[in-house]
Amino acid sequence: MTNCVRLAPIIGGAGIVLSDPFWQGLLSGDDFGVALAGNSADAIDALVQSAPRARYWTSLHKDNVVRCFLCPHNCIIGDGERGKCRTRVNVKGGLRSLVYGRPVSIHVDPIEKKPFYHFLPGVQAYSLATAGCPLQCKCCQNWEISQARPEDYQGPYTPPEKIVRSASAGKTRVVAFTYNEPTVFAEYMLDIARDAKKQGLRCALISCGFVNETPLAEMCKALDAIKIDLKGYSEDFYRNVCGAELKPVLAGIKQIAKSRAHLEIVNLVVPTLNDSDKMLLDLIDWVLGECGPDVPLHFSRFHPAYQMLNLPPTPVATLERARDMALSRGIHFPYVGNVPSHPGDNTYCPSCKKALIQRQGFFVTEMNIKNGRCKFCSRKIAGVWV
Ligand code: SF4
Ligand code: SF4
Repeated sequence: MTNCVRLAPIIGGAGIVLSDPFWQGLLSGDDFGVALAGNSADAIDALVQSAPRARYWTSLHKDNVVRCFLCPHNCIIGDGERGKCRTRVNVKGGLRSLVYGRPVSIHVDPIEKKPFYHFLPGVQAYSLATAGCPLQCKCCQNWEISQARPEDYQGPYTPPEKIVRSASAGKTRVVAFTYNEPTVFAEYMLDIARDAKKQGLRCALISCGFVNETPLAEMCKALDAIKIDLKGYSEDFYRNVCGAELKPVLAGIKQIAKSRAHLEIVNLVVPTLNDSDKMLLDLIDWVLGECGPDVPLHFSRFHPAYQMLNLPPTPVATLERARDMALSRGIHFPYVGNVPSHPGDNTYCPSCKKALIQRQGFFVTEMNIKNGRCKFCSRKIAGVWV
C-alpha cells in the first residue's frame, strides 16, 4: 500500500494490456461507445465533443469563462481551456468532464490494499481509475495516470451500468475508486455508486481529500467508506511536495468524520520531509482531537518513486515510532503500513490488547471480531464488519 494505491494494468498508452483476460471479458460487451482513437488533433476533438457536461462549476458571465469548484484550486477556465487536473474542459462557456466513462485501469484487489482495515476485512474490491489529479505529488506511485491527460490512454467508453454489471458478475462486494485521484471523476463515480447501491454493492473512495465541501457532501452520502491521505501536518509540505494546501484537506477530513461514511486515514511517512516527532505528533493530536480515537490511522512506508528517487525507503523504526506515539497519545488503531507481516499491521483490542485481526500482507489470516465485538472481552470495535 502507498499513499495512492499502486495502479493495476492500464489500457492504452504505455503498458497496454487489452489482451489481459480480465479486460477481454469486460470489453466483450456490446454496449460500449466509441473507443478513444489516440491523441491526434481529431481524436482529441472527438473526445471533447463527446464529453458530457460536468457539474460543480459556475459561469463568470464574461467571455464564456467559468469557475470550477470541484476542488480547492477553484480554477478559472477560459473557453477552450482545461483546469489544472487536465480532466475538465470549457467548451463555449460550459464545463465538460473528459473522464466520464473513461476508465484507464480496472482491477480486483483485496480491500486491505487500499488500505481499509476496519471496513469489510477480507473482501475483494472492484477497483477503477481514470487519468488525472489536481495534485502533483513528487512521490506519486501512479504518476503515469495521475499526471496524464485523458487522451493519453485509449479505451472504450464504459457507462456506469457496465462497471456495476462487471463488478457484480465478478462477485466482488465493493466498488473502489482509486489509483489516480478519483474526485476528478466525481460525476462518473457518483453515478456508479448510485447504481452499485441498487445492486447491493458497497462503494469506497481512496482520495487525497483535496475536494470542496459541496461535492464532498454528495460523496459522503453516496459512498460507504472513504480513505484520506493526510500527507503531512504542514502547509510547506503540501505546497512544496504536492502542489496543494493542507487546510482544505483538514476541513474535508472533519466533514467525513461527521458523516455516515466510514473513515480511515493514511500518513505516508517520507524520510527527512515529514518524519520529525513534531510533525507526527501534530498530526496525531489533530486526528485525535477532530476525529476521535477510533479512526484507524496508518503510518505507511515510503518507497522511492517518480521525482523522489533520491530518498531511501522509510526506516521501519520510524513507522514503529509513529505508531508508538499514536498509541501513547490515545489513538486506538494505529498501524505500521506497507511493511508486510509486521506486528503493527495487525488490529489489537484497545481494552484486552489481544490480536483481533491478524494479517499476512493483504490477507486476513485470523479474525477475532464477532458481531462487531472483541471475541475475548466483548468490547465494541469501531468499523464496518462482514
Ligand atoms: S477539479 Fe480540476 S478543473 Fe476543477 S478546480 Fe480542481 S483542478 Fe481545477
Ligand atoms: S494525490 Fe494525485 S499526485 Fe498525489 S499521490 Fe495521489 S494520485 Fe498521485
